[in-house]
Amino acid sequence: MKTKKIIKTARELAKPFRVSKGKNFRLKDIDPDDTLEFTEKADKPRAKETLAMGVTALAELQDKLYAQDKWAVLLIFQAMDAAGKDGAIKHVMSGVNPQGCQVYSFKSPSAEDLDHDYLWRCMKHLPNRGHIGIFNRSYYEQVLVVRVHPDFLAKQKLPPKLVGKKIWEHRFEDIRNFEQYLARNSIVVRKFFLHISKKEQKQRFLDRIDDPLKNWKFSSNDANERDFWDDYMEAYEEMIQETATKDAPWYVVPADNKWFTRVVVAAAVIETLASLDLAYPKVDEGKLKELAAAKKKLLSK
Ligand code: ATP
Ligand code: MG
Repeated sequence: MKTKKIIKTARELAKPFRVSKGKNFRLKDIDPDDTLEFTEKADKPRAKETLAMGVTALAELQDKLYAQDKWAVLLIFQAMDAAGKDGAIKHVMSGVNPQGCQVYSFKSPSAEDLDHDYLWRCMKHLPNRGHIGIFNRSYYEQVLVVRVHPDFLAKQKLPPKLVGKKIWEHRFEDIRNFEQYLARNSIVVRKFFLHISKKEQKQRFLDRIDDPLKNWKFSSNDANERDFWDDYMEAYEEMIQETATKDAPWYVVPADNKWFTRVVVAAAVIETLASLDLAYPKVDEGKLKELAAAKKKLLSK
């Protein structure tokens, strides 16, 4: 398939899941088990093929992004545990040149992190120009886990008068402004919420307990977070309503079927890169002369 055709297919695949305006977004409108018109039995192998083609197209686009050295792309992944963030990142980025890609996973903040404003640790890991940066979790934890568990907010050492009723509204506003600042500095932000159902998460946790090769992935704490499922879903919904913008849209990707999730994520990354004016730098007259002279010299010896 030609790159142009792949880009067209990618746009079609990503469109139903792209949220560029949050106002009317409702999480219940996205079914975690959705696979569009594809069925697991008939289309899973085709989806894998499409992913492989997508990965090749992505590598081509990334090569241009790197050579042009103007734009940076920041991909943010948020999800409940076991939704497949790591797998999606691994598969989708499998073909890209590691030199042009940076992945950073944000864990519970350290003492040093807590001694700063919450964007501080994220700023340090923003991608360089020409690079694709991936945040596995991000400053969005500030309106997710920190909202669901007020203990985390208490540890942030904020003076009480700054922790009022409007704190979440203010955080949304600051995040929107921050992302607009990034957009204006040619850092293109795209955000992914991998939307898994509570039922499928249970199944994946059980697999992690039953399969010795997956035991290391299981944490009882993750399973305990299921008690707060509804609070998390409410927090996710409001986060998307408040922070989905044209410049920094969310993709709400059904995550009960990993093969489908990966195709949609790849499609979204392709449509993002394809929307930029990527091109190899033009070589000027002087450089052409230099190349011709070097060739002549090389051939003469
Ligand atoms: P995996 O489990 O697949 O290795 P993970 O992203 O779940 O990946 P963990 O080390 O299990 O990694 O979890 C990181 C934990 O840190 C999550 O529970 C997340 O909610 C928490 N966390 C991240 N950022 C913050 C934050 N700013 N404040 C409080 N907790 C945070
Ligand atoms: Mg975890």
